[in-house]
Amino acid sequence: MAALNLHKSNDAILAQLKDSRLFKQLAYVNGKWIAGNADIAVTNPADNDVLGYITSLEKSQVDHAIEAAEAAFKHWRALSADNRAAGLMLWHDKIKENREDLARLMVLEQGKTLDEARGEIDYGASFIRWFAEEARRAYGETIPSHIPNAHLATIREPIGVAALITPWNFPSAMITRKAAAALAIGCTVIVKPAEETPFSALALAELAERAGIPAGVFNVVTGDAPMISATLSCSEKVKALSFTGSTRVGKLLLRQSADTVKKCSMELGGNAPFIVLPDMDIHEAAKAAVDAKFQTSGQDCLAANRIFVPREKFDAFTDAFATEMQKLKVGNGLDPVTDIGPLINEQAVTKARKIVDDALNKGAKLVAGKPQSVSDGNFFHPVLLTNITPDMAVYREENFCPVAGLIPYDTLPEVIAAANDTEYGLAAYVYGHDVRQIWTLMRGLEFGMVSINSVKMTGHPIPFGGMKQSGLGREGSRHGFDEYSEIKYYCLGGLNITGGI
Ligand code: ADP
Repeated sequence: MAALNLHKSNDAILAQLKDSRLFKQLAYVNGKWIAGNADIAVTNPADNDVLGYITSLEKSQVDHAIEAAEAAFKHWRALSADNRAAGLMLWHDKIKENREDLARLMVLEQGKTLDEARGEIDYGASFIRWFAEEARRAYGETIPSHIPNAHLATIREPIGVAALITPWNFPSAMITRKAAAALAIGCTVIVKPAEETPFSALALAELAERAGIPAGVFNVVTGDAPMISATLSCSEKVKALSFTGSTRVGKLLLRQSADTVKKCSMELGGNAPFIVLPDMDIHEAAKAAVDAKFQTSGQDCLAANRIFVPREKFDAFTDAFATEMQKLKVGNGLDPVTDIGPLINEQAVTKARKIVDDALNKGAKLVAGKPQSVSDGNFFHPVLLTNITPDMAVYREENFCPVAGLIPYDTLPEVIAAANDTEYGLAAYVYGHDVRQIWTLMRGLEFGMVSINSVKMTGHPIPFGGMKQSGLGREGSRHGFDEYSEIKYYCLGGLNITGGI
């Protein structure tokens, strides 16, 4: 086993933290911090400097994590809902107490702005509180019997060990949104965070340990993503798998999970339309569209990827959007004036460049924005494109970068068809006032979440999830338990229901 590798480069993180024990470079399995057979560097997207190292577990250690989670499940599920809720509330409180440290750690490994990171910590913690409360109300139902002298009912039972495979764009909340539901209903979990942003996950494990969550209930494994994910998804002992990430990897995990008929929930990204209605104030709509496009530097599955504007208002909207966009400051996420932090890594920058080049080669017009230069590193300045057509990557793909595309439309049926012309179906935005038009869009749009006149739409009480290839299942809300539980029906026959009357 390799020893903990305390390189000098840890200084950048340690300088930001009040509590340096939140910075962990080992995996957390069965209540212990363990090392694998190698170290993997984690870099800061703002300058590509090494922030620290994670340990790369061997397959046998991942198998051990599964066994530990399976053993812990027997005890954790047997606790009363009140007991599990109390543990989760303590975890929630510790996260809130350490909000600033957790946010700073996130900025260093993810790049987003400090305000966005603080918001993510609050958002992530809210799921723990919500599901701690919901755990106590995970009711079953009684069913009027069709069988003479029988009592029929259902109870909800935790499914078992759940594997949670999470992405780098929301390194903390994508873990808590899944883990809160799983733990509250009585499952134990193994988290595999993205290799770009493991420190947020490991800090959550440190706080779970401090909250007294028992050994084996919350585990974090790090290292070789394909090996760990395959070990989790092929294991018979893992009963549920929840994934947030790319469609490509999601499909791979679904295939790998087929042999064990695992319960899979998937959040595979989006290609959100933002539809401005003819009666909408242009400036208000442009401001909202800029908000909906550029949060997390555009690396958000809810980002407004395709912005549809009535043709007669197109030029005015384009000007208003460009004006708002040009107010955004690109820089280090720790700098309080920054609106747009760096992209996650060089590959993300290359992909963003390709999206712009592809659009320009196919006839798009660059209306505003500074072309990316090598000296920008991972910082990508926002770009506004018009003359967008459906054959362009910027229209087809989840572009995950600060590149906005505006598209004119003439009629409501036309814009509904265009908005739905994508394999994705996660979120859509509508801005306008006419109730009939809004209602027509609400019903016509093939998206799991439709937000009308509000950029903010997510949170603990709502069912987050998509239609079509955006995924399977829902996270948050009372529906969030469905992914981690089974409904057990029972029939108690042979009763004397009349009680001798
Ligand atoms: P993104 O495009 O957001 O980076 P990915 O799907 O690549 O999304 O990553 C999401 C999660 O999937 C991460 O935890 C990552 O480690 C994991 N992952 C990436 N590639 C693979 C793979 N080949 N097999 C299994 N898991 C993977």
